[in-house]
Amino acid sequence: MPELPEIASRAREMNKELTGKTIRKVEVLQPKCLNVSTKKFASALEGAKLGGTSYHGKWLFTETTKGYLLINMGMGGELLLVDSKEMPEKWRVAFHFKGKTTLAVNFWWFGYTHYAAALAKHKISAKLGPNAIDVTLAEFREMLGKRRGAIKSFLLNQERIAGIGNAYVHDILFLAGLHPLRTIDTLTDDEVEALWNGIQKGLKPSLRKRGAFYERDLYGKRGGFKMKDILVGYREGKPCPSCGEKVVKIKTGGTSSFICPKCQPLRPKRGVKKKASAKKVKTIATKKSAKKTAKKAKPAARKKRS
Ligand SMILES: [Zn+2]
Repeated sequence: MPELPEIASRAREMNKELTGKTIRKVEVLQPKCLNVSTKKFASALEGAKLGGTSYHGKWLFTETTKGYLLINMGMGGELLLVDSKEMPEKWRVAFHFKGKTTLAVNFWWFGYTHYAAALAKHKISAKLGPNAIDVTLAEFREMLGKRRGAIKSFLLNQERIAGIGNAYVHDILFLAGLHPLRTIDTLTDDEVEALWNGIQKGLKPSLRKRGAFYERDLYGKRGGFKMKDILVGYREGKPCPSCGEKVVKIKTGGTSSFICPKCQPLRPKRGVKKKASAKKVKTIATKKSAKKTAKKAKPAARKKRS
């Protein structure tokens, strides 16, 4: 399934190749992909000149002189820029441009090509949380706020944070050193920062390589992010790249997770208190040193017990 690195790469390619093109004709083989009738969709977009393409979560937005074209590749598919006379074998919706090129859209399972006069009118994409790589650390802290649920569920919830799915979530949690079932309310400030860093480091290498190998770009070329670039995701039994321990596959709620049991313990590290205020830290420190003093003072008593 395409996630942020793939969708962001497609947006970049569409921006480069499609901006300035004018749609001559729209053809629809699968009307179910549309949010309006085929007739309305075609008449809305035929004659439209394309502007820039951006993305939000798994949606691609292309601005045109007549409103917006929105594409969601669903479980995956191809978005190919081809010669109009050399259409790919499989396609569901085609946008033929003036000048003999065509954007051919194919969905492996199901996807969407929508039309909206204005982006705010497109209810599905308007509900999405911010794009995962655009969130600042301060915004991320704010978003986690007083939430309590498991951290993996939060990352996968597109209405909270958009663009992370089952392909990249494993490595994001591994990079952060967090077990997928850790709950948000148990995270320390440092762990929140580690998770924010994990999102950046877990998505950007693939983004730089035009997405994962199982998806194709606008020119039909496979993405450059390969299986060997993945750290722990789908690598059950292989050594952890950090400590050498075997990666295990575990059940986490309704989904599977791949983790290093040593680098991603379920229990928070001992002695770390969440967001302890300066006053609390002082109290803990005082208690600890008091304990030490007590231990030192009673060697005889400890001997007796053993
Ligand atoms: Zn490890």
